[in-house]
Amino acid sequence: MKARLASIFLSVIFFSVFVPALQAQDLGPHFKKLADGIYVEATSEASSTCGIILTKAGVVLIDSGFRASDAQEVTEAVRKLTPLPILFLIDTEAHPDHTTNHWVFSPPAVVIAGEGTTESMKKAFAAPDFLTRIDMPRAALTNYQLITPQVEYHEKMTLHVGERTLELMRLANVHSEADTAIWLPSERVLFAASAAVPKSLDNIRSFVTIQDKINAFTMMKALNPEIVVTGHGSPGTVKTFDESTQYYTLLVDRVKKMVQEGKSEDQIKQELRMPEYDSWAGKDRMPTNIDAAYRAVKAGYSPGD
Ligand SMILES: [Zn+2]
Repeated sequence: MKARLASIFLSVIFFSVFVPALQAQDLGPHFKKLADGIYVEATSEASSTCGIILTKAGVVLIDSGFRASDAQEVTEAVRKLTPLPILFLIDTEAHPDHTTNHWVFSPPAVVIAGEGTTESMKKAFAAPDFLTRIDMPRAALTNYQLITPQVEYHEKMTLHVGERTLELMRLANVHSEADTAIWLPSERVLFAASAAVPKSLDNIRSFVTIQDKINAFTMMKALNPEIVVTGHGSPGTVKTFDESTQYYTLLVDRVKKMVQEGKSEDQIKQELRMPEYDSWAGKDRMPTNIDAAYRAVKAGYSPGD
């Protein structure tokens, strides 16, 4: 009995000395631990979020980030956390701030994304200023390679990696040309792409609709996640979906009233005020929000009714 206790005691000492429990702080100030084996990295509140999911079979990354320093931090963190390889890299959206560093991880990682991602990435890459915008030492840029997804799924895809299940769901017309929500049902963690970002206005492109955004918020809230990780901003809860739904509902309602008063879209852009959201970031994006609300009103959409 004594020998057994001694051996247990020794193993406890061994593990506490040689296998320290790794906290997110040990990974650096830009990391947060969300659950066992699930971490996120973001340089600042505004920059894009990278996710690290550890499994017994290997690592799954979510988004590769824009800055070279993000890829470096994620690479170092993975090395500290596990000797296992990075198997998959999943894109929550097609835009460069989420996809620029793919070349750092793939190969060997297989990049998985929603249909339309490759086309969108190639278009962004073809822009003459693409490489000059990349935050990377000039010398390293000569080796830059655009790595587009090896796998594009259509509507849904389920990945079983080690002990974890990841359900990929395409969110149509909510932010980029191809947006994906990634749902871990056992862990109740949802990577929600950039359909909504906490307390921030979206730069709404012409193909994005408020109807699709609100439908996506409703669908994602119904999953009942405990943790919601958006493409930018601190991880939170479904409150982000509620707040964004309220925002768009009020916006469409106000635009609808002004349309009924006979105002033109230009007049609405000049006169419309949303003082309730003065504290939100990205107010220079309001014209694109009014465009979307105007399209919604013209399509007969009225979320408040
Ligand atoms: Zn984006």
